[in-house]
Amino acid sequence: MRNASRDINKKTKNSSEEWNDKTNDKGYNLAYVSTKNRLLVLKEIALYGPVSRVTLASALGLTKAALSKIVAELLSNHLISEISPDTISGCNTPGRKPILLKISEHSPCVCGILINRHRIAGIIADLSCHVVEKEVISYESLNSEEDLLEHLLSLYHTLISKTSRQVEAVSIASLGPIDDENGKILSPFNFYGIHNMEICRLLEDQIGRPCFLINDANAGALAEKMYGFDKSASNFIYLNIMNGIGSGYILDHKLYRGENGQSGEIGHSSINFSGPQCDCGNIGCLELYANNRNMNSKIRQMQSKYGVLGTLPHKTGDYSFDEILCAAERHDPYALTALDEFCNYLSVAVLNVIRFLNISTIVIGYDSASDKQLLEKTLFHLLHDKMDFAQEHSLIVRHSTFDGNAPLYGAIARAADLVFEGKLNWLNGTDENKEEIKR
Ligand SMILES: [Zn+2]
Repeated sequence: MRNASRDINKKTKNSSEEWNDKTNDKGYNLAYVSTKNRLLVLKEIALYGPVSRVTLASALGLTKAALSKIVAELLSNHLISEISPDTISGCNTPGRKPILLKISEHSPCVCGILINRHRIAGIIADLSCHVVEKEVISYESLNSEEDLLEHLLSLYHTLISKTSRQVEAVSIASLGPIDDENGKILSPFNFYGIHNMEICRLLEDQIGRPCFLINDANAGALAEKMYGFDKSASNFIYLNIMNGIGSGYILDHKLYRGENGQSGEIGHSSINFSGPQCDCGNIGCLELYANNRNMNSKIRQMQSKYGVLGTLPHKTGDYSFDEILCAAERHDPYALTALDEFCNYLSVAVLNVIRFLNISTIVIGYDSASDKQLLEKTLFHLLHDKMDFAQEHSLIVRHSTFDGNAPLYGAIARAADLVFEGKLNWLNGTDENKEEIKR
């Protein structure tokens, strides 16, 4: 088990290249093509379902006969189920309506977990990211990695006790830096001294299910790509503004993960070469400037200079990021100034990425009770003012489909992606230690 999932993690890096190699060979294996077609149908249903057989055949370029055979297999394995279009609200087209296909309510699930500095959140969800259970554990501090492991096991056992669905894998999105190939949390800043924690091995030993690890911002990007409202987007930056600032990149429709999953540390890219030293060792990192503490300092400065005239109530402690965003939305002048400064710092780092990668879509994930448009609009205008004419045409800055939860859903997306790539074999029954797909 342990070695199997480590191997899966390592092989994932070049799966699409492997596929291209296979299909370009003269004598490629027909059994492999058959399996690949079944996985493509499963993926299409998971990502775009409920969907009709006609739509599926057209989208995947399969004959009616070939598709029927695959659908029958998936139905008999309880991976998918049929649904009457009459049961779907808004489906009011006249005439005979085709039966639709969706991921079955009896199909296996993944336990997705997101690790933050002060809480772990978990969900049980199927391949379409339909969430059947959720749970959160909060903590002020952790004494050791054993402490974190205990919380994770408690979360996992609580979740599986609440559902009758079969849970086949555990997928963790975590603050970085991490080593995703070896399932290790390396040494995140301000994370209670946790260092080189082999989190996947420790969990697999306890629960007997394969476990996978992904950087939280990468997970957010993958969730947006697979389950977000624009699945056709070929290139975008996902910015995660929760416990610091991280970024994930979808390049040419694929998640860019770097050598070992440590890409996207935009918060630790320098925006001031003569700035202070960061905990990461670098100089003038973005997170030293664009953070909640600095936003509060800005507000306090203005309050002491001009008096408490805005809509922010007097408070001895710090205003939260959400409180500042909500006040800015009410046109509070101090909150607006603090937000503008935050976005200005952010725009410097984001503009570098835009210029390096020629990307024009930015998706931002965070939680807020505000309408979640002001930060996006502010950043848009700052970037727009600094960009070249040719690029500014297509600039899009939008809020994440999942607010601040994209990394949690991304944990599910990571495991689902492994299933769709054939790295986790759910096609022939779902017991653990299954034989890998023959190529
Ligand atoms: Zn840094």
